[in-house]
Amino acid sequence: MANSEIKVLYNQIFINNKFINSVSGNTFITLNPANKQKIADVAEGDKADVDLAVKAARAAFKIESEWRTIGATARGQLLLKLADLINDHKITLASLESLDNGKPYEDSLLDIDASISTLKYYAGFADKIHGKTIPTNEPYFSFTKPQPVGVVGQIIPWNYPILMLAWKWGPALASGCTLVLKPAEQTPLTSLYIAALSKEAGFPDGVINVVPGYGPTAGAAISRHPDINKVAFTGSTEVGKLIMQEAARSNMKRVTLELGGKSPLVIFDDFDVDEAASIARDAVFANMGQCCCAGTRTFVQEGIYEKFVEKAAKLASEMKVGNPFESETKVGPLVDEEQYNKVLGMIESGKKEGAKLEAGGSKVGDVGYFVRPTVFSNVTDDMRIAKEEIFGPVQQILKFKTIDEVIERSNNTEYGLAAGILTKNIDIALKFSESVDAGSVWVNCYEAVNPLCPFGGFKQSGLGRELGEDGLTGYLEIKTVSIKKLN
Ligand code: ADP
Repeated sequence: MANSEIKVLYNQIFINNKFINSVSGNTFITLNPANKQKIADVAEGDKADVDLAVKAARAAFKIESEWRTIGATARGQLLLKLADLINDHKITLASLESLDNGKPYEDSLLDIDASISTLKYYAGFADKIHGKTIPTNEPYFSFTKPQPVGVVGQIIPWNYPILMLAWKWGPALASGCTLVLKPAEQTPLTSLYIAALSKEAGFPDGVINVVPGYGPTAGAAISRHPDINKVAFTGSTEVGKLIMQEAARSNMKRVTLELGGKSPLVIFDDFDVDEAASIARDAVFANMGQCCCAGTRTFVQEGIYEKFVEKAAKLASEMKVGNPFESETKVGPLVDEEQYNKVLGMIESGKKEGAKLEAGGSKVGDVGYFVRPTVFSNVTDDMRIAKEEIFGPVQQILKFKTIDEVIERSNNTEYGLAAGILTKNIDIALKFSESVDAGSVWVNCYEAVNPLCPFGGFKQSGLGRELGEDGLTGYLEIKTVSIKKLN
């Protein structure tokens, strides 16, 4: 059963399979966003702690270490064991996740299922990472050997704490890397709990290290560390740029980035309007809109525009806002005060710039960071709410006439993470899929994210891909070996 009173067992830094205090002795508070009450004090990692974690990860990566010599199949089995333990501890983990992040408990369970699938998918890859033999015209036997890139730093956000951990750990561990993960300061608890499970699963000392702490301190210590070979980051475009700079300035560590978005969902008037409204609702309001691929720009063709707006407003008003642990709740609190103020500010800006408020538009009480699902119609491309990432439950409905026009408007953004199109016309769907600048295009659905399919951004939505076979690339160096035939 969901447990909102759950006790926090792990609140320290995890290095070398041990929980320890931070070098400074400092701690920070993690809050429950539904009531602003403290859940726990957590050890605050900084540069000194990241240094210790990297030392442990480097030692575990040594060529003669247990991790490098157990064999690829055994690595896969460890990942499978971790996935099974996460499944065994699902209720505890989902409770902790909802407490720390505010997302509805049912959503936490779904995230955990997706995390388990991701770890299992990559477990299968562990002993299927092959090189090639190359028929050069020289007297050489040449082959490639993909090798783990080394010690990887992983910095994850607060919107899907468990899932983002799984997206990072799956390919890193399948490839044979060792890692130092920094969870977001808003949501450190589930990463620490899963760290404890990784020890139980049997991962050798130092393979997995978790250092909670703040971005500009612990996070920056990772991105500028001289002995980290790669950093994988999910978060804002602004911080993504800092990470790239620090990586270049330090040791040119490899960088993969999964960043912001302002994704279009385009609805043609041949599509059933009720179904469209419900797909669009889920596209924007899932996880309280705190989703990098949220379909926030809802483009609706003029023939069904009025009907769609009416339906969208009704669906948004019907969503129950409240305690994440109540089963009817669809919308929990936003993650923290900063996010709450930002989203309320964007709603005010929409009203001021002349968008028409159709639903919501306000906070709910003062106990937690709750914002009503908000719908704006008559939105134009130049409004801030149509251009900037809101990361909250705010839907923008824009009107369009033709496919060419909507492709141009969809692409008129610095972002390119995802796009959706609802139409029965296959030619239109194909034209849109080909022309839109987006790492994922969903036709007649939205957010069909799957561990088997690569995910990532065009333009300023990121660099590299996560998930799928492509998700391994960032964790591997390709070595070419050429052996001369002597006779
Ligand atoms: P958001 O704006 O959604 O909170 P951020 O990009 O600020 O997203 O945060 C995502 C992750 O990046 C968090 O773990 C955060 O602590 C970390 N972070 C923030 N600033 C920095 C930084 N300067 N260097 C490295 N990591 C950072």
